[in-house]
Amino acid sequence: MQTDIERIYATLLDRDYQQILFGNLEGFEKKDNSYIARCPFHEDELSTLVIYGDRPEYFCFACSARGDWLQYMQMKDGHSFFHALAILGDASGIPAHGYDKGRWDDELLRCIVLQHVLGYFNALLFSRQAEEVLHYLYKRGYTVSEVEGSSLGFFPGFNTMHEYLVSGGFEKETLNEVLNVLWNKEVENCPLVIPYRDTCGRLMGLYGRDITLSGEDAYIPLTDVTALSDVPYLMYKSRAKDEVILVEGFFDALLMDQIAEKPVVSIGKGGLSRGMLDTLVSYGTKHCILALGSSDIQKKATIDAAEIIHSTGIGVSVLPIEGKYSDMDEFIRSTSIKHFKKLLGKAHSFQEWKNMNLS
Ligand SMILES: [Zn+2]
Repeated sequence: MQTDIERIYATLLDRDYQQILFGNLEGFEKKDNSYIARCPFHEDELSTLVIYGDRPEYFCFACSARGDWLQYMQMKDGHSFFHALAILGDASGIPAHGYDKGRWDDELLRCIVLQHVLGYFNALLFSRQAEEVLHYLYKRGYTVSEVEGSSLGFFPGFNTMHEYLVSGGFEKETLNEVLNVLWNKEVENCPLVIPYRDTCGRLMGLYGRDITLSGEDAYIPLTDVTALSDVPYLMYKSRAKDEVILVEGFFDALLMDQIAEKPVVSIGKGGLSRGMLDTLVSYGTKHCILALGSSDIQKKATIDAAEIIHSTGIGVSVLPIEGKYSDMDEFIRSTSIKHFKKLLGKAHSFQEWKNMNLS
């Protein structure tokens, strides 16, 4: 279930609300997919404040001020939490009734801790200790720029991460309270980090990949991910898009997101849940293209997914992946982006696909 705040943020992001909320700052201008401006929280001539384009957050490279829009409105304009929330609720047309400030405080702190460690993990991925992980990614066929564009990271172990957070100024007691709830301390051998964002782009969880294993068992949550169970992976990039490609794995989605020119989400090995479908529909998806793979299990998942999608009245078609390629990742690696684009043009209606595959 998406929270009201998540829905408000998602709606306002789709309307480029950054321009209204931050547009009065000196030096405010668009830079790539984000905005920059002079930071209101410290004296400076330079534009050191980044206002992200794809999530409701800001960060100052000089004074490290960071938070979400509600935090900004409280810090900068002195609004109370509820007043700030009412302003955003009005602007989005989604009233946030009865929202608990304690819950928002917890979520914000969680996001801030996760963003902080992800920045560290991203940098570590290109260090010597991550050699094996990088080798694994390159062997899988990723190029350097694809790895850089994917925001993957390297997990150096819990204790090293903890030391890093303490040295970053997080107060020990608060930090331990957050990590006790958030972090899955049992997991040590999952060096490849995959960030998982909620529907408005806030970093709400991390998965780890054990590079010595294959298949579903290789992916283990490094953090609590219960809040993300109804959120298809990369959903925040697919809001308000009529047509979305559904793939199985994280890596299929990460790769295709960089090349497909169409929004793509991953639904995992478990197939498309009702909750995930509801999320897609509630954020504007009108047509799903299934590209779940060619094995018998994946065909079964395709049929199950197509049937529940169909029951909601939205359109569904299927990409005909040849049996010799297990999934989209492998298909693209073994052929080319050109072939993939051609394949996209050949999507079958579900009925056509079913006739071909079950006869
Ligand atoms: Zn600053």
